[in-house]
Amino acid sequence: MFKKILVANRGEIAMRVFRACRELNIATAAIYAECEATAIYVKKANEAYLVGPGPVQGFLDTRQIVNLAKRIGADAIHPGYGFLAENAQFAHLCREADITFIGPAPEALELLGNKVQARELAKQIGIPVVPGTEDRVQSVEEGLNFARSIGYPVMVKASAGGGGRGLRVVRSDEELKEAMESGAREALAAFGNADLFLEKYIERPHHIEFQLLADKEGHVVHLGERDCSIQRRHQKMIEIAPSLILTPQLRVQMGEAAIDLARAAKFQNAGTVEFLLDQDGHYYFMEMNPRIQVEHTVTEQITTIDIVQAQIWIAAGRPLVFGQHEVNLQGYAIQCRINAEDPQNGFRPSSGKITAYLSPGGIGVRIDGVVYKDYTVPPYYDALLAKMTVQGRTWDETVRRTHRSLEEFVLRGVKTTIPFLKNIMEDPDFLSGKFDTSYLDSHPDLYEYDYALVSEDLVVALSAAIAAYEGL
Ligand code: ADP
Ligand code: ADP
Ligand code: MG
Repeated sequence: MFKKILVANRGEIAMRVFRACRELNIATAAIYAECEATAIYVKKANEAYLVGPGPVQGFLDTRQIVNLAKRIGADAIHPGYGFLAENAQFAHLCREADITFIGPAPEALELLGNKVQARELAKQIGIPVVPGTEDRVQSVEEGLNFARSIGYPVMVKASAGGGGRGLRVVRSDEELKEAMESGAREALAAFGNADLFLEKYIERPHHIEFQLLADKEGHVVHLGERDCSIQRRHQKMIEIAPSLILTPQLRVQMGEAAIDLARAAKFQNAGTVEFLLDQDGHYYFMEMNPRIQVEHTVTEQITTIDIVQAQIWIAAGRPLVFGQHEVNLQGYAIQCRINAEDPQNGFRPSSGKITAYLSPGGIGVRIDGVVYKDYTVPPYYDALLAKMTVQGRTWDETVRRTHRSLEEFVLRGVKTTIPFLKNIMEDPDFLSGKFDTSYLDSHPDLYEYDYALVSEDLVVALSAAIAAYEGL
């Protein structure tokens, strides 16, 4: 087993990996930028190293990180998600330096980092893909030909895309021209690669993804699916496991398709195969994410399998200790992304000092967060402050428990998604499972709440309760 793991990431996912390491008795090293010297994740590591320059560059500087790992005697690096998690060149560098990259081999990262290639592989092994262009589209002319042959709407996608960026829904020739030009520019700036391809736009699908674990001996299991259809601008906001609409038969079929794809890609470690499921129950492969995902928590709660520890065991060469038939899905889990954003102002990021913090608790509530009173939310990173994952025996119970937990959540000083999420838990459509990827756009009433009242009331009540308790 590894002696020391360096986490090349920050925030809640760094904390998540440190927790796994602590239980496995592995020493940990954090990296941090100047603006976050006092962050919780930094304090939770056994060692911490300042990297720079600036708030972001140090997390992307592959040489600096590998050299640091060497210098401090770390024998493995966990990349988390985002930053270098899908960077094949980084995985190569680790390999050359004889440091284990906790993730798949660079060859698999290279293949799966290119959506056109991944689609091609899926097609070759008989997995349905969203109808789309065979290859990248090299001219507007080519794009127009495809769109006219398949019919609008179509989606313009970046071959190297991720994180919901570089996606455009297009409904006419004029829009397509514009979308391809701006899409190529955005893709080049965001991913260093301007390649685009086109897909038929599926109306009102569900986003269904399968969590996989694959060891070095070729065993691959899936841990069931997650429904991530509650999205804003193609970015996930709420994730659910298991899906409310998947039949047992489809679960078997899609699970097997996901496993087939992982095998064909020579994939190892933890990864997720994403599908769209249309209104008629047809599924289509979309992409594979070769890394830990933000929403792995819901799967952990319903399977009781620690996916991050599994990543570490697999990277260390240990075979999986369970087979497919030993994976049982128990009850339901819902993850809410508590973001420092203001839903009533176009989800504008909100940074600043946290003036009050009290996280919810009780049966079935899990918090993966980095927030405490007086912590200053930096403006440089993504807006995720905490993930609240709630589980229950039935869907009904899980929604009501999630609602109760959001009510308990006190987080002041920045605007957050909490009141918006609470409105979702009160929505009859959500409760009765009537949602797909169009859900947020078709429910404008979710934006109606009085932010001041929501948070102030609770804080006043809680402060009074605490004062009374302390006065006893
Ligand atoms: P998940 O699929 O785990 O829910 P997200 O799509 O929300 O993940 O992305 C998790 C993080 O990784 C976000 O910070 C996102 O911006 C980042 N990310 C995802 N894909 C890429 C990519 N290809 N390049 C750079 N960053 C990415
Ligand atoms: P990313 O790499 O940014 O995660 P994805 O290809 O996974 O991009 O797509 C992100 C989201 O965009 C999906 O979850 C889905 O809601 C929407 N989407 C992607 N492709 C299509 C499509 N062909 N039709 C309809 N919606 C799509
Ligand atoms: Mg995706």
